[in-house]
Amino acid sequence: MLKRGLLILLLATAAFAQNDEPQQPYAPNRRAGEGEGPFKRLIIRGATVIDGTGAPPMGPMDVVIEGNRIVEVRSVGYPKVEIDPARRPKDAEREIDGSKMYVLPGFVDMHGHAGGTEQGTTAEYVFKLWMAHGITTVRDPGSGNGVEWTMHERDRSAKNEIVAPRIVPYIFTGSSMWDGGAINSPEQARKFVQSVAKRGGAGLKIIGAGDPVYDPEILAALIDEAKKLKLGTTTHLSQMGVARMNILQAARLGLGCMEHWYGLPESLFTDRTIQDYPVDYNYSDESHRFGQAGRLWKQAAPPDSAKWNAVMDELLKLGFTIDPTFTIYEASRDLSRTMNAEWHDRYTLPSLWEWYEPSRKAHGAYWFDWTTADEIEWKNNFRLWMAFVNEYKNRGGRVTTGSDSGYIYKLYGFDYIRELELLQEAGFHPLEVIRSATMNGAEALAAPTGKRPEFGLVRPGMLADLVLVDENPLHNLKVLYGTGAIHLNDTTGKVERIGGVKYVVKDGIVYDAKKLLADVERIVAEQKGVR
Ligand SMILES: [Zn+2]
Repeated sequence: MLKRGLLILLLATAAFAQNDEPQQPYAPNRRAGEGEGPFKRLIIRGATVIDGTGAPPMGPMDVVIEGNRIVEVRSVGYPKVEIDPARRPKDAEREIDGSKMYVLPGFVDMHGHAGGTEQGTTAEYVFKLWMAHGITTVRDPGSGNGVEWTMHERDRSAKNEIVAPRIVPYIFTGSSMWDGGAINSPEQARKFVQSVAKRGGAGLKIIGAGDPVYDPEILAALIDEAKKLKLGTTTHLSQMGVARMNILQAARLGLGCMEHWYGLPESLFTDRTIQDYPVDYNYSDESHRFGQAGRLWKQAAPPDSAKWNAVMDELLKLGFTIDPTFTIYEASRDLSRTMNAEWHDRYTLPSLWEWYEPSRKAHGAYWFDWTTADEIEWKNNFRLWMAFVNEYKNRGGRVTTGSDSGYIYKLYGFDYIRELELLQEAGFHPLEVIRSATMNGAEALAAPTGKRPEFGLVRPGMLADLVLVDENPLHNLKVLYGTGAIHLNDTTGKVERIGGVKYVVKDGIVYDAKKLLADVERIVAEQKGVR
C-alpha cells in the first residue's frame, strides 16, 4: 500500500541514516536450535513433489540436497507400493521421512513490507510469520524502513545469520530515498536510478511520493536507466498519477510489473478518460479513495469486449507482469470476515491491531461509515478484476503472488496463503496457483538481471528453498495456514486441525515451521502482558 505519511516516514529514514538508530528493531541473530543445517547431504525420502512448473504431483520421490543446493530429485517407486531400497540415493547425513508429505518450492511474496514503527512490529515477528508460511523470498516493494535497514537485513538473511526469507529490495522513487533532491527531470531520474544501483537495490517501486515521476519523460528516463543497470521496475500507480499515465502507457515505456490494479481499469476506459469522481472526492480521505476504487472497474470496458482484448493483448506482447495482491482489498468486500480472521487472537500484535482500527490518519483504516452498498460494489469490482487476471494467465501472461500484509487487517504470512485462495477464486487451478507463487515469482525477479532464476522449482541445480506439508495443498490450500484446516476425522468422530506447513527449508537450512509460529505467539503474548 501507499504508506500513510510516506513522506514523514521517508524523512524519518533520512534521520536514521544520520544517527544509525534502526526504525524497527533488527532481527536477532539466529539462536541455537533455530534451523538445522545446511547438511553435507540431506535426503527427503518418499515425498510427493509439486515442482512449481504446473506439472502435477509425483511420488514417491527422494529429494537430495547437498549444502544449499538440490542435487537430485529421483522417482523411487510407485504409490502404495513398498519402495525397493536398492533404487534409492544413499549416504545421507540427515534424512527426513517425507512419505506422508508434499514438497513444494519455497514461496515468493512479491509484495512484502517488513512492518515498521507504524505497526509496532519487530523484524523477528514479521520474518518468522513469513517463514512459518513457507515464504522463502520476499520482494520488499519500496523498502519503507529505509535503504540501509533493508540492505542490512537482506545481507544478514543471505548469510543466514537471521531467520528470514531472502529479501529483494525495490526502492521507492521519492526524493527522500536519497540525498540528491527532487526527481523532477529526466537527468535527475537517471541519477536517482544510478544511486539505487550503487546502494544495492534490485529494482524500483515507482510511486509518486511528491515527485512528478509519472510525467512521461521522467518515467521514460527512470525505466530506461533501470534497464541499462539491470534493475527491475514495478509501480503502484496511484490515483494521483493515473490521469497522466495509465498502466498500458507505462508498459509501453518498458515498465516490467504492476502492483494491485491501479491504472489498469483506466487503460480500459472507452467513454471517459478520468474515473467518475464525486465532486467532493478528496484523495487524502481514504474512505473516498477506497470507496470510489470499488466503483472503478465497472467504468472500464467489460470482459471480452474489443477494448478489453486489445489492452490485454498488448500487455501480453510487452511481457508485462501483474502482481494483483487481491488479499489486501478483501476487507473492502467483507470487513467482518477480515476483522475476525481466526488467527488474529494468537498471532496479531496489539500494536498492529491498533494500527488497523478506524482512523483518519492511519493508512488502510477507512472504516468511518463502511456500508453494505460499499461491500457489494467491491464484490462486483473483484469479479471484473479477477476475470481480467485469470484470462491474462490463460493467455500466457505472468501473474505473481503478493500479499501487502501489515495493513487493512491483513497479517504477514497468513494472508499470503489467503492470496493463494483468492487466486483459486479468480479461476486458477491450484497448480496454477502454486506456479504463480513459486516459479512465476522467481522468474519475475530474475528477468531484469538477465540471469536464470536460482530458486522457485524443485529441480536439481536450484537453491534448496522448499515447503514441506503433511497434507495435500491442491485438495485444500487452507492446510498451508499456520492455524491449519478444520477436518472431521471419521475414524475418531472428532473435529481436528490438520496441516500447517511442517518444515520450511531455506538455503538448505531446515526450520520447524510450528516452532517459528510458537515464537510469534510468544512475542504477541509478551506484548499483551506488558499492556
Ligand atoms: Zn504495498
